Amino acid sequence: MSPVASETSLTIIEHAPIATWFGVGGGARRLATPGTVEQVRECVELDPSLRVLGDGANLLIDDQGVPELVLDTGQLNAVRWDERAGAVCAQAGASLPALIIEAVRRGLGGVEGLAGIPASVGGAAIMNAGGAFGEFADTVSCVHAIDRDGRDVVLGRGEIDFGYRHSGLNHLIVTSVELRLTPEDPLVLRERLKETMAYKKRTQPMAADSAGCVFKNPTLHQPIESVGDTGQRVSAGLLIDRAGCRGLHVGGAEVSHRHANFIITHEHARARDVIELMDMVARRVLDAFGVTLTPEVVLWRRQR
Ligand SMILES: Cc1cc2nc3c(=O)[nH]c(=O)nc-3n(C[C@H](O)[C@H](O)[C@H](O)COP(=O)(O)OP(=O)(O)OC[C@H]3O[C@@H](n4cnc5c(N)ncnc54)[C@H](O)[C@@H]3O)c2cc1C
Repeated sequence: MSPVASETSLTIIEHAPIATWFGVGGGARRLATPGTVEQVRECVELDPSLRVLGDGANLLIDDQGVPELVLDTGQLNAVRWDERAGAVCAQAGASLPALIIEAVRRGLGGVEGLAGIPASVGGAAIMNAGGAFGEFADTVSCVHAIDRDGRDVVLGRGEIDFGYRHSGLNHLIVTSVELRLTPEDPLVLRERLKETMAYKKRTQPMAADSAGCVFKNPTLHQPIESVGDTGQRVSAGLLIDRAGCRGLHVGGAEVSHRHANFIITHEHARARDVIELMDMVARRVLDAFGVTLTPEVVLWRRQR
């Protein structure tokens, strides 16, 4: 791993590992860590097909790594608060969990239901991270980004196609997000945050290496007894469990006993193990229920 300075002050590291929450997978041939929006633009000029890395909490990277420039947003982490207006502007690499704690401390509500979701602000926007207690889109007022031609893009909430774990923003490089929060009693917010965390700890293998839910919850095209009716979005974890996949493993990857939609990785696991296990689980659910599962986890692999 050898740091080399490019012609500008942008730092690019060659043959860099990429840290993901799965703890498996290859690295980047070149990894850039821009500290300014101008440097993000320089990255786009260097490689318009670059890949963007947030906190790596929803990423599975092929064991061979990726040839494109990887832009790590970690250095773009400034957060500006306007407490009176209930507004916060956070750069893409800012930590969502840290932002949630600070919002609660300042008595600003709206994001406390996202507690326990590891993410950068940019990654949370791209994935529209969320769950039973709300989703990131609920508080977004505006997204600032750069397109693949290096142009600035500013999108108001109404211009963004947010949906379930979807933003339609994946072609852009999100540089910052403005949120609109609501003044509330910090004690009430703290209680809500604690309840959310307790729920997560009860139902998810929080201490294990994973990327959260690997599959999106599917919408049923036909009713399934004691699962749901046509048109209903149902728990992928429930289907995986009913298909007998809990505890299933390939190499160092295993379907979690605590939450069947989590694949956890053990020491010596490889990305290939996770990919094979995901294929196996999807096949069993298709065979058992005729339901096609779609990955929620983003897979980075070389174009073949
Ligand atoms: C223990 C655990 C629990 C989880 N629980 C939940 C949950 O309850 N709900 C939920 O929704 N998710 C959950 N997740 C998944 C994950 O936390 C979210 O998907 C999160 O939004 C990922 O953000 P990130 O910054 O880590 O993105 P990354 O994993 O780094 O990237 C994800 C995708 O976003 C893109 N991206 C990231 N930043 C940018 C940017 N600035 N501009 C453009 N593209 C970008 C990447 O290229 C990639 O395609 C969980 C994960 C773990 C490990």
